Amino acid sequence: MATMITNECINCGACEPECPNNAISQGDPVYVIDPKLCTECVGFHDYEACAAVCPVDVCVTDPNNIESEEVLIARAQELHPETTFPDNFESRFRKGEGKPAPTAPAKASPQVMQPASPAATPPAAAAVGPTTEFAEAEVKYVELPAIDSWTVPMRCFKCHEVHVENVKNFMIGNVIFCPHCNKSMVVRDNLNYHLRALLKDSYEDWERQQNEFANQRERERAEFIERRAKEAQAFETHQKRELEKIRQQLNAIGENYDAAGKPFKKGSRFGWG
Ligand code: SF4
Ligand code: SF4
Repeated sequence: MATMITNECINCGACEPECPNNAISQGDPVYVIDPKLCTECVGFHDYEACAAVCPVDVCVTDPNNIESEEVLIARAQELHPETTFPDNFESRFRKGEGKPAPTAPAKASPQVMQPASPAATPPAAAAVGPTTEFAEAEVKYVELPAIDSWTVPMRCFKCHEVHVENVKNFMIGNVIFCPHCNKSMVVRDNLNYHLRALLKDSYEDWERQQNEFANQRERERAEFIERRAKEAQAFETHQKRELEKIRQQLNAIGENYDAAGKPFKKGSRFGWG
């Protein structure tokens, strides 16, 4: 019973490099297993390597292609004539017997996806992590109290004791009494002006600085996200180009391979081949 891939395959490519028999390749529309090369990993693992990594569990046994362990180990031997399989070879039919069972690799992440490409058969690239969001420290802006809630410590010019007065009491012409000696003081325009100007200017500066800070952070955040997106896109393009290069080099090797027994193309003395 060879393993097969169902149409629910998401073309992540995680299974392809795991196969000890190179039985898996990109098909159209999904990855496929060549049953003539699949040994259900008999001889190599006591589990099916493709099924072990598949994030969506679509590498399943083919009910229309039942094969015995003997057939599968014979195929493994045929595919790997240089390998001597011991009597207690790894086999899913005898899971846990003989050698300690190797640990099956972790499954690939299900969100790793790549659309099927009929033109080439590159190993699929894994998409890594989010690309548009990043954790950013939250700014906890300090709140300003209401302007009229401020108080001013005043030193009495007669008894020299300090008493605290609310800014609201510093209206021009208002009379303030010292609670210690009962001496009175009239608020003049210069004192009123100093207090009001100080608070007004400070509040305006505060608001301006906070707005500038928030705007700058937002601008930098947008620029950072845009730059990261461009970097990601450029790298993706680079990887696609590299894949295409590998594909072209492999094609060239396959085309020009000087196989034993390949007939020589003798040149014609008349020069037309
Ligand atoms: S079961 Fe094993 S041999 Fe068969 S396709 Fe999967 S990885 Fe390859
Ligand atoms: S691991 Fe599963 S989903 Fe990914 S290509 Fe292989 S069969 Fe398809």
